Amino acid sequence: MTTQLRSLAPQRVPVSHPTLTTHRLLRFLPALLLLGLWAIANAAAQQQEEPQLVKISDSIYLAPTTGNVYLVKTPAGNVIIDTASAAQAPVARQLLSPEIHGPVKYVILTHGHADHIGGISLWKEPGTVVIAQRNYVEFVNYVARLEGFFSPRNAVAFGRPPKPVGPWAGNFGAQIDPTVFFDEKYEFTLGGIQFQLFSTPGETPDHLTVWIPAYKAAFIGDNYAGAGIPEPMSFPNLYAIRGTKPRWALDWIKSIDTVLALKPELVLNGHGDPIIGNAEITKRLTRYRDAIQYIHDETVKGMNAGKDVYTLMQEISLPASYNLSEIFGKVSWSVRGIYDGYAGWFDANPSTMFDLPPSSIYPDLVKLAGADSLVRLAVEKVDAGKPVEALHLTDVVLASDPKNSGALNARIKAMQVLLDRSQNAVESGWLEYGIAKAKGQLTPANPAASGP
Ligand SMILES: [Zn+2]
Repeated sequence: MTTQLRSLAPQRVPVSHPTLTTHRLLRFLPALLLLGLWAIANAAAQQQEEPQLVKISDSIYLAPTTGNVYLVKTPAGNVIIDTASAAQAPVARQLLSPEIHGPVKYVILTHGHADHIGGISLWKEPGTVVIAQRNYVEFVNYVARLEGFFSPRNAVAFGRPPKPVGPWAGNFGAQIDPTVFFDEKYEFTLGGIQFQLFSTPGETPDHLTVWIPAYKAAFIGDNYAGAGIPEPMSFPNLYAIRGTKPRWALDWIKSIDTVLALKPELVLNGHGDPIIGNAEITKRLTRYRDAIQYIHDETVKGMNAGKDVYTLMQEISLPASYNLSEIFGKVSWSVRGIYDGYAGWFDANPSTMFDLPPSSIYPDLVKLAGADSLVRLAVEKVDAGKPVEALHLTDVVLASDPKNSGALNARIKAMQVLLDRSQNAVESGWLEYGIAKAKGQLTPANPAASGP
């Protein structure tokens, strides 16, 4: 197996993640090059290549589409681990087909994200057992329950047009394909090969890890999140701002420990390349786990010290020794995700207990200060390197005059500054969306070029 693993050419596995599109990564090229992140720059260029089948060993094959699809061959039939997005699933099926001899006995879903469950039907034969962790049911119901809420936000986050949303599916209206669910652990043997499945909540509450002791191989889904990003890896999204429930840091840490305790020689990710060799696996996963632990613990310490969420977002950063970028997950968002995950929405300020937000008095501020003065101040803030303050000021003006060209132009300028500074692909996507939206609000009579 070692020879085969060594012969694996990682560059043949195009990097792929729904939040890190080629376009998004290419936008980052100057910053990536500045940071010396040549690998990511190369990966962005490689993304446009057609995916190719990757032979990991005589028994394990990988179709690296949007969401990796794995085939594990046994003398008694095949096991499929994850099925890609609905759009990419036929590509994965086609790539793996030449290696499929005999029946597909099991389909295992590492978690219920759309880029892993879209092709279940392509693999299902009479008698195929589809396995998921028990939390899968609530997770996919939650996604379906809030489809109308998530659809436009996902469109921005993934850089694609919003998907049409049908009638509300109800609270429990998701299609449930798995036929076997387990809580903590599930085992089966096929063709003499033992498969052990462990509950390993992390990026989602239903995450599972597939462990094949005979090959010392662990399929961990997206719990080494953003694994499509070559080294240096990114910190994970402990909260994804497209809208997610909190991703519990302590659960994630425990799940990584579960994987490390297996002493794998091969870690197979839901996106991107395998990690090969126990020393390398231990180094990378330990660093990742420790980074999550550090951010979690610093946030909790700050909460116990009576600090508010914004203070902690500003104060807490990841020490450079972790050597993790923030191109995928942003530390300050994770701090807020942990804080709000534990405490909910109330910030102990009596003003915020009621149903009128601060924006309810924005028109009064405009009356007092005058829109022109506020716009002037916003421009001064941008010029002084304070684009976020500028955005807040434009919010005040736009609340009562959504087409105020001065405010819109100041806003575009502020977001452009933030975009130029951004080291996070998701953040840059939202800024691009914000700029396009503000430009759309400018009427032809007030083109952006006219300036504030
Ligand atoms: Zn994924």
